[in-house]
Amino acid sequence: MSSRYDNLLANVPTDLWIGGKWRKSSDNARFDVIDPATESKVASVASASIDDAKAALDAASDAFEGWAAKKPRERGEILRKAYELIMRDAERLAKLITIENGKALSDSRGEVAYAAEFFRWFAEEGVRNLGDLGRAPSSGARIFVHHKPAGVAVLVTPWNFPAAMATRKIGPALAAGCTVVLKPASETPLTMLALMPILEEAGVPAGVVNVIPSRRSGPVVDHMLHDPRVRIVSFTGSTEVGRKLLHSAADNVLKTAMELGGNAPFIVFEDADIDAAIEGAMVAKMRNMGEACTAANRFYVHEKVQADFTKKLTAKMAALKMGNGLDEGVSLGPLVNADGRDKVVELVDDAVKKGAKILTGGKRPDGTGFFYPATVLADVPDDAKMLNEEIFGPVASLQTFTSEDEVISRANDTIYGLVAYLYTKDIGRGLRVSEKLDFGMIGLNRGLVSDPAAPFGGMKQSGVGREGAHEGLMEFLETQYISVSW
Ligand code: NAD
Repeated sequence: MSSRYDNLLANVPTDLWIGGKWRKSSDNARFDVIDPATESKVASVASASIDDAKAALDAASDAFEGWAAKKPRERGEILRKAYELIMRDAERLAKLITIENGKALSDSRGEVAYAAEFFRWFAEEGVRNLGDLGRAPSSGARIFVHHKPAGVAVLVTPWNFPAAMATRKIGPALAAGCTVVLKPASETPLTMLALMPILEEAGVPAGVVNVIPSRRSGPVVDHMLHDPRVRIVSFTGSTEVGRKLLHSAADNVLKTAMELGGNAPFIVFEDADIDAAIEGAMVAKMRNMGEACTAANRFYVHEKVQADFTKKLTAKMAALKMGNGLDEGVSLGPLVNADGRDKVVELVDDAVKKGAKILTGGKRPDGTGFFYPATVLADVPDDAKMLNEEIFGPVASLQTFTSEDEVISRANDTIYGLVAYLYTKDIGRGLRVSEKLDFGMIGLNRGLVSDPAAPFGGMKQSGVGREGAHEGLMEFLETQYISVSW
């Protein structure tokens, strides 16, 4: 282990956090966490068994009544405190994210701030759990509607945003009065484990949040979804795993929130401000080295501006500095693991074989670390695999179009529907096209849509439900209607 990490990792917990205590797994199993920049082991983490999952559910279930009974303001104050403590520790957490995920420190700093904001937002939103009162038109009975915490929630999160994808669930769950068992991704368990002492310091009682990393994700999560005490499963990850969890969740008819994969189109009309579109494209494509569900996966550029856009985008991409994400000035870290990098290699090779032209990048570097350079491909043919799958890497695939109707139909031609981006100076056209795009979120002259105050989520096979905004709180509440006469 390199000495530059020792200070950072010295106090990072590596066991399971259950009922407010650290413990080993029941069978002492552990797994390694690897730094993708150096391919070296940085920690060994306890791997939860089914027995550990049961213990975590016991703790969450025991803590539920007390937490649900707390006044919304009391829960809100704790979440607000958690926001402040994360910001106090922001630099340490950002470095930890970079060590286990690989992303550049600037991306990790952005993620920590974004992650903390979910606690601040839901500290405020939790006190706005308002009901309703009406009168039945025929019987005259009063219709009294309120929202109760739905129960114990199982949260499963991916490796691409180790902090934010978890706080986007923990924040609303706790604000609503639910208790949780979180299974973080096996590639990046350290960030969530490091958050637990912070939540404890903020005043989150024992058992309200439990974290169980595990190399045995399938059986452990499946067991939890069949425990009658669990009422919610909130998942962020691939559509493939999301489908499996939806099947499992059907047996006990759980409330499900699914934030799944994307295949975002990025449309540049002939009347766009090209410099603004380039700036947006760099964010939409390169935040997190392209390892984002919101990453622009298919660029459609009007043929009249194609030459200008392509030249400027290629220059920006070629200028990015690749290296260990911990080094200042680096904006392109390694991909998360060898599989992720090999998938990018495969998709680029496939596109090039079918006729795409490499304008920059396109070649896996030799040496240590799961690096792949910023790449721009022009004339990507319609049958290239990368147009139908998430690239999840720093590769911009460019195509051209000629008419509005044509580009809408090509953009919608996917099983996914998470986010679409479009650039035009004509706001009427922007809104008209937005309405015709079957995507849960639209970036209109913007390359970034994520915001704790906005409802994040997808249509079609990109998911079910929304996170953030008031909608995110409602995912953890059950609506109860009481018919009253007085
Ligand atoms: P993944 O689906 O492989 O894993 C996600 C989580 O599920 C991890 O914790 C993993 O350990 C766990 N898991 C894997 N197999 C499981 C199983 N059989 N049963 C239960 N749990 C299981 O996804 P990933 O590779 O970690 O993340 C990348 C994917 O996440 C991409 O598809 C990306 O688009 C998606 N994503 C979506 C959003 C969104 O908000 N829509 C946000 C971030 C990432």
